[in-house]
Amino acid sequence: MLGSGDPSSSSAKIELVPTPYRCYAVVSRGQIARNYRNIRSVVGSRVEVAAVAKADAYGHGLLEAAETLAANGARWLAVASVEEGALLRSGGIHEARILVMGGFLPYETDALLQYKLTPAVHSLEQLRQLESVGRSQHCHLPYHLKFDSGMGRLGIRSMSAEVMDAVAGASHAKLEGLMTHLASPADFCSHQTCDQLAAFDAVIGALRGAGAKPEIVHAASSGAIAYGRREAWRNMVRAGLAIYGYVPDSHGAAPQPLLDVQPALAWKARLLAVKNVPEGAPIGYGATFRAPRAMRIGIAGAGYADGIFRQLSNRGKVIADGKLTSILGAVSMDLTAIDLSHTAALAPGDEITLLGREGDVTLGADEVARAADTIAYEILCGIGSRVKRVYVE
Ligand SMILES: *Cc1c(COP(=O)(O)O)cnc(C)c1O
Repeated sequence: MLGSGDPSSSSAKIELVPTPYRCYAVVSRGQIARNYRNIRSVVGSRVEVAAVAKADAYGHGLLEAAETLAANGARWLAVASVEEGALLRSGGIHEARILVMGGFLPYETDALLQYKLTPAVHSLEQLRQLESVGRSQHCHLPYHLKFDSGMGRLGIRSMSAEVMDAVAGASHAKLEGLMTHLASPADFCSHQTCDQLAAFDAVIGALRGAGAKPEIVHAASSGAIAYGRREAWRNMVRAGLAIYGYVPDSHGAAPQPLLDVQPALAWKARLLAVKNVPEGAPIGYGATFRAPRAMRIGIAGAGYADGIFRQLSNRGKVIADGKLTSILGAVSMDLTAIDLSHTAALAPGDEITLLGREGDVTLGADEVARAADTIAYEILCGIGSRVKRVYVE
């Protein structure tokens, strides 16, 4: 029998006290919605937009992002795996179609049916499996055939007679879509996109010749949308990064991006300590930084376990008291030292910005990525599970 001293009831009360998090990310549902609508308006009403929510919606929260997208009219969501698709369905996403871009493994066929997921089929073997599952369960299973037009990753590499026969001969696996993925859509120094689309068109022609007509044809991700490669849009595009407010970096003579999207996530950490160190003081593991003069430094309560890449040691920036300032020494697991010599305003408990804006100063995942020798995608996906996500409109 639980008495009044029941510890579970008192801990429930403690939970209600709003605790400021040491390190958290503020995700704007409204901005995700605006970005999604912007993409829709740029591609036009005849092109469907599949909203890519894989990898925990690029760090923004799988379900929260998917709910927002579905509430704003997304009829298609795309994920990497059957597991991600199942999480969406169990989390209450019932109406939207879910495309599993990474296909399925043999043991996942039941889950495809149970969770009403639409797989990308990237091999003849998979097509046969899908057909036999459909037959044994007496149901039609729509799938999107994935063609490897030059990405060199998943997909059927040639439309052999064998593949064509399997597609046309299937009575339960139903060819709904044909897709390919572009390797260099933001690269205007390379012919690769043009070559891939030519190969894609040849496949479409061959399928038509065999009487197979995929209703939905798609090839474009954020790069091909943003940089106006309309020849890749067909009647559906798969937008990931752009939904979260970034366009991939371009190479060569790229046109101005068509999209008007803004980051939907801001990332904050609190200072645990602020102190003055004398000239020559070593900072952090390996003493890779020594104060060139007396300095004021701050120790932020976030490190590489939270997603501050260790490559940002002595290279990265954060925003503190409205100014960009440097990461000092090696980023450690839970702590990062920063230069606060420019301000006396910050004290322990105050926030700094790892991604986002303070006043006129902004720090984007693309800028952080350049300092860490990577891409914005990896910065966003790298924000750790320990970082609380706080949702705002
Ligand atoms: C991740 C992914 C996308 C989305 O790419 P973005 O560049 O984030 O828009 C589209 N298609 C496939 C096959 C993907 O794996």
